[in-house]
Amino acid sequence: MPLVDSHCHFDFDAFAPDRADVWARSIAEGVEAMVIPGVSIPQWRHLFALVNSQPGWYGAVGIHPWWVKELAIAPTQVARAVVERVEHERRENGGRCVAVGECGLDGQIDTSLAQQIPVFEAQLDAANRVSLPVIVHAVRAHNEVIRILKNTRPQCGGVIHAFAGSRQIAETYIELGFRLGVGGTITYERAAKTRDTLAAVPLEHLLLESDAPDMPHAGRQGERNSPEYLPAVAKTLAELRGVSMETVITQTEKNARALFTI
Ligand SMILES: [Zn+2]
Repeated sequence: MPLVDSHCHFDFDAFAPDRADVWARSIAEGVEAMVIPGVSIPQWRHLFALVNSQPGWYGAVGIHPWWVKELAIAPTQVARAVVERVEHERRENGGRCVAVGECGLDGQIDTSLAQQIPVFEAQLDAANRVSLPVIVHAVRAHNEVIRILKNTRPQCGGVIHAFAGSRQIAETYIELGFRLGVGGTITYERAAKTRDTLAAVPLEHLLLESDAPDMPHAGRQGERNSPEYLPAVAKTLAELRGVSMETVITQTEKNARALFTI
């Protein structure tokens, strides 16, 4: 059964020693495609060199909230930088650039939301200018993220990656045209609220993701996470929803391919 890993930091150094082996094992587990998010301007060139080295790999252009403090340009220049990079990748590499992101807000880091907000807004603006969906990181900042998405509606939708939260918050994102990324969080019984939410919202709005090398599954704490473990996320989601794994995999693959046009 074909799986799409809608969010995997496969360019990170954690995979440098054995990237080809991990990908071979992921293919053996059914993973056919993955989206590798952008995190910082200096990373974009390496990211797309990697993406272009392998069929089934796709990239996004973005500045992750954790990298905002290293940003070497003014927030007012971010939209233009993103648009120019997307246009460059489209010229050079056709359909491999499938989103803007990973962008968003993180309330748990030492960079203030006041610093993060203009960089996030600039990327939403850029996404609309190049007609791409956005990959959103929303951690302990759902109210702010929702307020901003209502102001600058992403015209091509997007995904709230690694979604964790209540059913009400999930439904608000869905009304705004967003899908929700489902990752290793749901393998933890203590994540009861998120598990209940993701068991209840329509499957048409969910994507599977590893967020590797982060987000190790229950029982694998402290280990490097990997796209090869994605079937375990599908299995847990199927159990929570009382449907077959095949139903989950087939529908979420369709959702990911529709969102990213891959
Ligand atoms: Zn990420």
